[in-house]
Amino acid sequence: AGGNRLQVFSDEMRVAVKERIAAEARLRAALAGDREAALPVWFQPIVSTATGRIVGAEALVRMFTPEGTLLGPGHFIPAAEETGLVVPLGEHVLRLAVRHLVAWTNQLPYISVNVSPRQLAEPDFVPMVASVLAEHPGLDPSRVVLEITETALLGSAVDVRDRLEAIKDLGVRVALDDFGTGYSSLTWLQSVPADVVKLDRSFVAGLAADPRKSSIISAVLWLARSLNMTVVAEGVEDPDDWKALQAAECPSCQGYLFGRPLPASEFELMLPFPEAA
Ligand code: C2E
Ligand code: CA
Ligand code: CA
Repeated sequence: AGGNRLQVFSDEMRVAVKERIAAEARLRAALAGDREAALPVWFQPIVSTATGRIVGAEALVRMFTPEGTLLGPGHFIPAAEETGLVVPLGEHVLRLAVRHLVAWTNQLPYISVNVSPRQLAEPDFVPMVASVLAEHPGLDPSRVVLEITETALLGSAVDVRDRLEAIKDLGVRVALDDFGTGYSSLTWLQSVPADVVKLDRSFVAGLAADPRKSSIISAVLWLARSLNMTVVAEGVEDPDDWKALQAAECPSCQGYLFGRPLPASEFELMLPFPEAA
């Protein structure tokens, strides 16, 4: 490496670095071209636990490579985070999701959009959200939920609490994503002004057969209620788990049992007709 520095690269590291560079190049190209085609947003229903009716949807980004291969976010979000490209990517996802939400007024109560820690730390984040909302003057901002994870709190230079207060001043709601999987979930509950708890799949899958899981869920539901927050149980795949969540009076559910993430054109077929709403 010059001077008296010596660097050792294993083949594995070389492959990982190459893949990361390729992922970054792909993402740059996708953002530079027809974003809506290359980076579509898919929608997964969130339902009322009691009735199974759709009360909201989570927006989940996908990527089509130039060869037409469909990639899930696991293939490009980590590279997007590292390079900062998650900032323009996240703005694109929010803008597109909100556009659909407006088109689905009277059919879909709310949309939930993921925000990465890197995005939240951007000085321009709050003005960006405000400008997306301003594109739709009639939109009730509480129909937009921003999902943040616990890692947003860790090692961040900005005061996350201040930033979330500023977001909430816009009238937007905030959800704690993957709740329970971090190391400081209670600190998180105590310090962050959130409206929604998204209970991680690991507490939900197999709930009906596991008394420990159902105790944990009951306690989180109680805690959330006392803090004036609502709860979405994630990863509901099993009808028995759904029954257990009904018995526990968990407000809402999301999972393959009710629907997988779908492109907008397919998702909207699940919605009630506008007249019926
Ligand atoms: P997440 O926010 O926890 O999103 C839920 C993930 O669980 C989605 O995976 C969804 O397809 C999957 N899922 C939903 N129901 C079930 C179920 O019943 N069983 C199982 N096994 N899985 C279920 P997906 O779409 O692959 O997204 C993975 C992660 O990528 C998301 O996890 C989120 O952290 C991230 N992500 C997705 N879209 C965005 C985005 O626009 N921005 C950012 N920053 N991250 C995103
Ligand atoms: Ca999420
Ligand atoms: Ca989640």
